[in-house]
Amino acid sequence: MQDVINNLPKLAKDKHKENKTFFNKLKKKLPKQLDYIMQELHEEEFNKTDCLECANCCKTTGPLFTSKDIERISKYLKLKPQQFIEQYLRVDEDNDYVLQTVPCTFLGSDNYCSIYDVRPKACREFPHTDRKKFHQISNLTLKNVAICPAAFNIVEEMKKRLSK
Ligand code: SF4
Ligand code: SF4
Repeated sequence: MQDVINNLPKLAKDKHKENKTFFNKLKKKLPKQLDYIMQELHEEEFNKTDCLECANCCKTTGPLFTSKDIERISKYLKLKPQQFIEQYLRVDEDNDYVLQTVPCTFLGSDNYCSIYDVRPKACREFPHTDRKKFHQISNLTLKNVAICPAAFNIVEEMKKRLSK
């Protein structure tokens, strides 16, 4: 898996133009069943991808923390929300709360997340490949394929499936 992760930025860069063109075309002519197709592609990929062998999202990018996330996680850690913020978070250029450091503080050396049951919504939803109206997050997806091997494979499969 580590070889795949190491090669991913280059592979994603090589595919960037093709992916961009694909998403631009997709937006102009949306397949009727796009949500259904994405659900299927997402499930097929994650049936064979073990995130515990990867954790590249947790190692290289952090989620943003909504106020609900902060409330839930600080309660779990028996901290006051403000204490949790001071200890772990900072405000980024978009005014969102993000982690002070990556890899994520909550990631163990075994790739397990120590706050898994209460993890941020953004972590639960990453890489967003099963979300409705997937075409609306194409810019984000173009970035995510360089981080997440599963997202990369899903977009490759998507191109094959939709050009049939
Ligand atoms: S979501 Fe993607 S980047 Fe994150 S652990 Fe799973 S395969 Fe790796
Ligand atoms: S909170 Fe958990 S799932 Fe989210 S980035 Fe940190 S280790 Fe990964």
